[in-house]
This record gives sequence, C-alpha cells and structure tokens, in this order.
Amino acid sequence: MKIAFHGAARTVTGSKHIITLKNGTKILLDCGMFQGMGKDTDTLNRHFGFDPAEIDVMILSHAHIDHSGLIPKLVKEGFVSKIFCTPATKDLTTVLLKDSAEIQEDDVKFMNKRRANEGKPYLRPLYTVDDAQKAVEHLEEKQYEQWFEVTEDVHAMFSDAGHIIGSACVNLKIKENGKETHLTFSGDIGRYRDAILKSPDTFPQADFIVMESTYGNSLHDTAVTTPDMLLSWIEKTCLQKKGKLILPTFSVGRTQEILYALNQLELENRLPDIPFYVDSPLSIEATEIVKRYPNYFNRTIQKIMKSDKDPFAFKGLRYIQSVDQSKQLNFINGPMVIISASGMADAGRVKHHISNNIENSRNSIVLTGYCEPRSLGGRLMNGDKEVTIFGVLHEVHAEVGSIRSMSAHGDYDDMSQWLACQDKQQVKTIPGTW
Ligand SMILES: [Zn+2]
Repeated sequence: MKIAFHGAARTVTGSKHIITLKNGTKILLDCGMFQGMGKDTDTLNRHFGFDPAEIDVMILSHAHIDHSGLIPKLVKEGFVSKIFCTPATKDLTTVLLKDSAEIQEDDVKFMNKRRANEGKPYLRPLYTVDDAQKAVEHLEEKQYEQWFEVTEDVHAMFSDAGHIIGSACVNLKIKENGKETHLTFSGDIGRYRDAILKSPDTFPQADFIVMESTYGNSLHDTAVTTPDMLLSWIEKTCLQKKGKLILPTFSVGRTQEILYALNQLELENRLPDIPFYVDSPLSIEATEIVKRYPNYFNRTIQKIMKSDKDPFAFKGLRYIQSVDQSKQLNFINGPMVIISASGMADAGRVKHHISNNIENSRNSIVLTGYCEPRSLGGRLMNGDKEVTIFGVLHEVHAEVGSIRSMSAHGDYDDMSQWLACQDKQQVKTIPGTW
C-alpha cells in the first residue's frame, strides 16, 4: 500500500490523501479545497495532481470545505463511485457545497465586472451549483462505530472526532497479500471539553496513523471562557464606542458555538440589549442541521436543553437571508454585532462587511478560528496596517482581535489525549521502501 498526500501536508487546507493498494485500488480520503493560500489558491484548486476517474471510492471525514470542497470538481472530472460519510456530514456537506458554488459564482461575477473594464479575460468558477447538486448524490451515510465494506479488501469504521457535528476519524482495515493492516486517518480532531460536542472518541488499535496537527505546537487559552471574551469585545466596541463588532465565523461549528455562548450570557442576564445579526444563509441552515442531531451533543448542553429548548436563540438575534438585507446593514448606524461567514474572511458576505467597516476606528473585527496566514483574516491577525479586499486597498483603523479559545481544533494536549488509547509499541514507523 502507498499513501500520497495531495494537500493538507505542510499546510492546513486542501485535505486529499490517496491510498493505493498493490492491486491498484485507489481510495481517496477527503477531497478538500485549498483556502487562504493567496495567489496560489486558485491554481492549487484547479489541478488535482491525479486523475479523478482513477479513484475507486472516497471516504469523507467531515463537512468542512477544506475537506469536502472539491467533491463537485472530482465528480465533474470523472469520479463515479460512492462517497462514505456520517449522516450529519451528508446533511452539512449538501448545504456547504451548494453555498461554496454560489460564493464562487458570485465572486467570479463581481471580479469579472472589473476585469471587463480592464480588458482582462473572464474567470470561471471551479464548479457551479448544478455540479454541486450532482456531486452530493454520491454521498452514502454510515453510522459511527459500525464497520462497513469499502471494497472487497477494505473495511472502514467512523469514530467521533468531536470537531464539528458528524465529524469522524476514519479507521480502515486493509487486506493485502493475506495480511491485514489497520490505518487510522484522524480527519480534524476536536477538543476535550468542547462547549457543545462530545469529546473525541477512542479508536481501534492502528498500525499507522495519519493525523492532523494544526495546533500541534500550541496550547489554547482556556483561562477565560468564550462568553466572557465575547462580552468584553461587545462592551468595548458596541457599548463604549457605539461601533460594529464583526465576527468572521465558520458557518458550521463556530457560528453555533458563538450563538450558544451569547445564549449563555442571556441566561445569566449579562447580554447587552443590542441587535445581533447572523448574516449568512448557510449559517442559518447549518444551525438548523446541528439542532437535528442533539444525540451528538455533550451532557452539559443536553441538560440545559431540558429547560431552554433552543440553546442557540436569544433576545436581539436576527437572521439575514437576502443580499439586499445584508447590504442594508451598511446603512444602519449604531452598535451591532455581525456574525458572518467565512471564518478566514476570504469569501462570503463578511468580506463585504469588513471592506465597509475596516477604516472606522469605532469598529472591531474579531477572528474566531484558524486563519491561513495569507487569507484576509490571517493578514489582519498578523497586524497588517493596509489590506487589499476585492482589489481595493484599505487602511486598517478598526480594532483587530481574535478569540483563540474557540478553536474547533485540538491543541497538543487534546492530540495527546486522542492518541492515548493506542499502544504505541504497536504503531509502526513508516518503512523507507515498499
Ligand atoms: Zn474541519
């Protein structure tokens, strides 16, 4: 068996790994999009580096776009087989891919207007909404903790990764030449003591482990809780400066965590009386899907739900659906909180909100998750004093901050805990030759 890494190696996004068996069978683990890689992003996403028609079957660890985002392109270019994933991953991937296609079509339209004036050739999206719809027909649900047949020689079982709703580690039993090899692919590993989800589950003994290490060199700040951090930004920005607090937020996972934290502030009578806008149709859909899987929630939130049926709703919360309503927010003066995708601020409506509000020192932009250094979020976090958004240079006068305690990725303590179920004597080192 051989494994080739076509993304998420020495970088975080673009998760795509191909296992090739000696009999030629090719299994693709994830088919993620590269995000926030600056000028290289588009090129990286346009060329797979392998032939999709040669892939026999695919397994998807979770719905995040950096793990699922190129599935429509994979299908468009000749992949015909099944894509195994958990039921919640299927639901979320269906809405995320449609949204990804819409964003691409919108962004390309927006940029082509300018390119036409400049006499430059038109850009094309990686795929369309139609491609995304065809692609999700390949998704096939499998429950956690149940072995299923991937091919005649390969069986798989999902274990809960505790990263987002439906996220899974992929455990494989691979038979080759009468020998069975156990390989586990971590996908993204969540955190122990997550606000909403259960902790990552244990997994069967593996011979080889492919694991993520986004925060393999750091520990998250857990001394201050998310509700407290959010409240201090709201007080500083909205109450003292009467400005807008913009939270670029991943639609899946982080949005629900923020809503849950704000709901907690309301339960404690600490939530200021200002409007909170969730400006992302995808975040609205994702929140509805998350609510459908309360059996994946941890015990604390299940207990809260006995008295508070909707732990993601509170006073002042408003959902924005249409683009027109979203644009209207520019013309409303006064304090408000805008929660909008994407988390790295490289796409989606939040990019427009940032470009409209970044030059006013009354406002704050607070990043709530991992940002690639070259993404807009990454550049802001880096302290850049000027940033280019949609080709226009902006001076950064808004206050920029981040809430690191909110990461859905485990730190090195979480990763060590995830690995602790393994007998390390049985985990093999990778041989130099095959
Ligand atoms: Zn993820």
